[in-house]
Amino acid sequence: MSLRVFNTLSRSMEAFVPLDPQGKGVGMYCCGPTVHDVAHIGNFRTFVFSDLMRRFLEHRGYKVRHVMNVTDVEDKIIQRVRAGKTTLKAHTSKYEEAFFADLERLGCLKPTHIPRATEFIPAILELIQALLDRGIGYGTPDGSVYFSIEKYRRAGFRYGQLLSLNTDELRPGERVAADEYGKESIADFALWKARVPEDGDVYWSSPWGEGRPGWHIECSAMSMKLLGPSFDLHLGGEDLIFPHHEDEIAQSEAAGAQCPGCRFVKYWMHGAHLLVEGKKMSKSLGNYFTLRDLLAKGFTGREIRFLLMSAHYRESFNFTLEGLQGARSALGRIDDCLNRLNERAGGATASSEDLSRADLCAGVEEALDHDLNVAQAWAVVFEWVRECNRALSEARISAEAAAAAVGAWRRIDKIFALGAGFSSGGEVPPELEAMLAERQEARRVKDFKRSDAIRDALKAQNWIIEDTPAGPRLKKSG
Ligand code: AMP
Ligand code: ZN
Repeated sequence: MSLRVFNTLSRSMEAFVPLDPQGKGVGMYCCGPTVHDVAHIGNFRTFVFSDLMRRFLEHRGYKVRHVMNVTDVEDKIIQRVRAGKTTLKAHTSKYEEAFFADLERLGCLKPTHIPRATEFIPAILELIQALLDRGIGYGTPDGSVYFSIEKYRRAGFRYGQLLSLNTDELRPGERVAADEYGKESIADFALWKARVPEDGDVYWSSPWGEGRPGWHIECSAMSMKLLGPSFDLHLGGEDLIFPHHEDEIAQSEAAGAQCPGCRFVKYWMHGAHLLVEGKKMSKSLGNYFTLRDLLAKGFTGREIRFLLMSAHYRESFNFTLEGLQGARSALGRIDDCLNRLNERAGGATASSEDLSRADLCAGVEEALDHDLNVAQAWAVVFEWVRECNRALSEARISAEAAAAAVGAWRRIDKIFALGAGFSSGGEVPPELEAMLAERQEARRVKDFKRSDAIRDALKAQNWIIEDTPAGPRLKKSG
């Protein structure tokens, strides 16, 4: 079997074949955070999904260039900067830092490139100019530049590729200035927004006057600059399908940088929302938890990561604290089993012919090959855990086979990044995990006195802090 993914563009499952003629390199872009505020765990569901995709591609031998932008200028940010009487940089760098600390805490790999919109203004201006040159962008008397859907369609393109849109009701020339709008208000959208007094100091000069870029053009410019005009994968949450991704396709393809017949993006993948009582977790509804909220309740980054990865990425599910408790006990079952296997293995080296190794790896790979079917992958993992536990209890597993089983899990855990099985010290009591989380937070805010005090308190209880690819973990000392 090889990887198949559900492509929003064709609304069907497709075999994943990268554009690279060597079949090795993969360009992957995931729309990153808008750094107006602390991200909530709904946002992180999407980023954990893209981390899982990247890790699985790497596991399958692809060399992934993973780009995740930071939207550090758009409508909401400007409102916050005004309200907080601060500067754009001061505001966005604070939330950007918090975002990356949380991302690390959730065991996500750092993307290969993290472009900020404000650092790509020349590329953005170049792209807007290309759209003007092709007669698809047009200026308005106030110094803004808009994208004409009518001209785009007349040039032979289809607006409404990722979803069906009723373009019959489209009134040529009608415009929408906001970065976010719904299907009912399809209209020409802003590429460049002329400076208005409310923008304060947030503006750049351009051939059309002072102003700032629209949100959609930022992602088109940054993705094409870093990955080329045609690349393999574009990911994001399902709320980005319209207008953001539809507009990205329109801008990028209308500018005409692709070779004839080539698309801007080959596969579009969209993650379903994390819900709370049936409604999308969002800042505007106020029904959200941040990672920090949950760490303060004593949960750990890996438990939250596990929960966010527990359902198929195209299925929405409700977040509850009970669900998180469930994630804790499921993870505890894996940890227990690995601790017992480690104990049984002692210092033995793995035997090569162990069957459980083959079963676990092949089973998980087969499940993930099928559009990242994690539900099936967890069924394989927990069947393997049961099988290992049975063999351990009946004392019919050799030290070599136990070592092989641990090795199999480590291989699989490069994809899941849960860090399970790396500690040989048994389960960490939740209150100590909470102390570790507190130390991380202290380090984040550069309160080193506090972080050292926590480290010493842990040490006094015979626990040391160990850095792993999934973030810091506690290990029993001595
Ligand atoms: P934003 O910072 O608002 O631009 O969102 C960052 C990412 O989080 C985008 O890919 C959104 O689609 C995604 N997102 C926002 N809310 C949720 C949610 N409740 N569940 C899953 N993903 C979400
Ligand atoms: Zn984007």
